[in-house]
Amino acid sequence: MAETERHLSISTTLTARFAVLAGLIVVVAFISLALLHRHMTKTDLYASAERNNVALTRSFSNVTWPRFAGFLESAHELSAAELRNHQTTQELRQSILSQMRGLSVVKVKIYDLSGLVVFSTDTNQIGEDKSGNVGFISARGGRVASELTHRDTFSAFEQVVANRDVLSSYIPIETASGRVEGVFEIYYDVTELLDRIRTSQLVQALIAGATLLVLYILLIIVVWRSERQAVRQHRRNVELARTAAKAEEASRLKSEFLATMSHELRTPLNAILGFSESLKNQLFGPVGSPKYLEYASDIWSSGRHLLHIINDVLDVSRVESGHTVLEETEFDPGDIVVASVRLLGKQARKSQVTLVTNIPDDLPALRADKRRVKQMVLNVLSNGIKFTPPGGNVTTTVTFGAGGGLTITVIDTGIGISKADIPMILMPFGRVESPYSGKYRGTGLGLTIAKAFAELHGASFQLDSEPGKGTRIRIEFPADRLVFGTVEALRGREADRQVTGSA
Ligand code: ADP
Repeated sequence: MAETERHLSISTTLTARFAVLAGLIVVVAFISLALLHRHMTKTDLYASAERNNVALTRSFSNVTWPRFAGFLESAHELSAAELRNHQTTQELRQSILSQMRGLSVVKVKIYDLSGLVVFSTDTNQIGEDKSGNVGFISARGGRVASELTHRDTFSAFEQVVANRDVLSSYIPIETASGRVEGVFEIYYDVTELLDRIRTSQLVQALIAGATLLVLYILLIIVVWRSERQAVRQHRRNVELARTAAKAEEASRLKSEFLATMSHELRTPLNAILGFSESLKNQLFGPVGSPKYLEYASDIWSSGRHLLHIINDVLDVSRVESGHTVLEETEFDPGDIVVASVRLLGKQARKSQVTLVTNIPDDLPALRADKRRVKQMVLNVLSNGIKFTPPGGNVTTTVTFGAGGGLTITVIDTGIGISKADIPMILMPFGRVESPYSGKYRGTGLGLTIAKAFAELHGASFQLDSEPGKGTRIRIEFPADRLVFGTVEALRGREADRQVTGSA
């Protein structure tokens, strides 16, 4: 519980950290976007106002310039006062005023090529020398130059205006051949335009800000929810791990209990088996009644069966508790098959089942726990015999090389197992009801042990079956368990291999 709370607080801290970081990013993104937008709008405004000024100048130079060009050319010969009061200056002023009426043009100045202000709508400026002005110099060189400024007061055509944003452009006046004849300076009032742009920028900023804010809040909710889900998942995992640990501990205790109990049972059972065998074989003299002899025999065979069960239980519990240690040696796998077939020969004959073996001569040696490999083969083979009706056969084949490993395959022509039952019979104590269940006493541990031993060797255990047709079990040892070159030394019983027909 304390751990969960800790994780919950970690998650809250993480969400808070994310909120701060994402908030910063959103604010920075918003400011950058606003600045970029502002810059782009200003550049656009600047360019369009400048284009406007250039167009006005062109129209002026087309309409008015030819009329006044001569006067303006000789203007430098007059004093400032003469220029201001000159009749032509008045006419020029009237002409410009009529051309600019209704436009946002607030001032017009004309320079001759020496930088002298030969005309200005603000008459006070006529006669000034602006030869050092950067804008003038640029225009005289044929390039338009503009500047956006804010003026607290400004003398416009007819009155003094206050608080204006003005774009002034120096524009060359050119002849048809492209020669610069003079410079025109035009002041365009962009105050209203800028105000409109500012309002539209504010609205756009508000919309963008609101959208970013909604996105930000949604993001925080998503992160917070994911964190909460992660914490819940973590809590479930911790719970599952605890349950698994408990189950593992219970299973370990069960295996330990079974191992101890089986061990304890074996000691008295050995005594029972020993004494009943002495009685059965009448080692120390004849038993008085044949009935007692029969009982002694029954005690012995039941005892043997019990010992078999105890040994199986012990094997399973050892494997489950991970206490099985393989005693590995190198041996001929063919020998194991031959020995198993011999051991079960009597049982096969009794059941009228034919045992067939296919063992190649050039087998490599197998590095494995010989006793346990034999137990695997015996378990599988004895099942084949048990569940095959009279007249059928059980074939054991040893192959190697196909997938690099060595395979022992046992195929019977018996009753088979339905697909649905296969997982169950591979579990400890798993058995299927069949006409043979009553005939043979089984524990349901044979296949479990064979499979577990195979897996302990890194071998695969595969069971395929079809009801009414038979069963095939393949145990495949990996290639690294094969030892080549020592076969002849391990072998020497080729003749023994040919165990075909009823063993
Ligand atoms: P046991 O034979 O001691 O009952 P096993 O684990 O060896 O235990 O087998 C479990 C069950 O699987 C058997 O009871 C039987 O129902 C089924 N079985 C095993 N091998 C075969 C086989 N070759 N053919 C048909 N059924 C089989």
